[in-house]
Amino acid sequence: MSGIVIKSDAEIEGIRRAGRILARALDLVSNKALPGCTTAVLDAVIEEFIRSQGAEPTFKGYRGFPAAACISINEEVIHGIPGDRVIKEGDLVKVDAGVTKDGFIADSARSIPVGDVNGDVKRLMEVTSKALQAGIGQARPENRVGDISHAVEEVARAAGLAVVRDYFGHGTGLALHEEPNIPNFGPAGVGPRLQEGMTIAIEPMLTLGIGKVKLCEDRWTVVTADGKSSAHFEHTIAVTENGAEILTSYV
Ligand code: MG
Ligand code: MG
Repeated sequence: MSGIVIKSDAEIEGIRRAGRILARALDLVSNKALPGCTTAVLDAVIEEFIRSQGAEPTFKGYRGFPAAACISINEEVIHGIPGDRVIKEGDLVKVDAGVTKDGFIADSARSIPVGDVNGDVKRLMEVTSKALQAGIGQARPENRVGDISHAVEEVARAAGLAVVRDYFGHGTGLALHEEPNIPNFGPAGVGPRLQEGMTIAIEPMLTLGIGKVKLCEDRWTVVTADGKSSAHFEHTIAVTENGAEILTSYV
């Protein structure tokens, strides 16, 4: 048997509390991502809010990551390090963060358009969000991980967009990264069976180009190899008997 951790109702409640704090932190930063603002300032907003809730930013110090959030702009796909990069009108800003509250962890990411983004980027963002929803729609008992993966890839494929194949969603909740991996591509009907009590982060990353990526010299930031824009959305969900419950929102 694999190392998939099934959570109790009390554990899921803990992850839900962490997820609500994270949803509010991401809402806050969505309103502050304005032209002229640096990514370091956005990171400080997130960290301050998370700590004000008696929680910790999970990413800070994780494998040496220096900030509370990964902030990645345009061709940066994931794992961007906040710093003095200034946000401009038309940018697509991806904010990915984790919250640890009383030992429970939630992980979520959003793509935030700054003012008017061009039509292709707007569509990229909408399709990536739709791909996440399609994946979440498959997260129910008796389905398999591949059903999530396939649903995500189908939405991308139908829209003519590329899936980044080098980074996956994952189990989460008691540790940031747990089993199983949740790829954003692949056939339906394969992989570990989903069970009530699993908590997983589903996180499609789509691009306007060919979907190939490379690692920058900072050893963290992942960019598209062709310089085309990328979008990323992520929710932590619980598999329940009735399907997925999104834990990184307030409802
Ligand atoms: Mg994340
Ligand atoms: Mg994640």
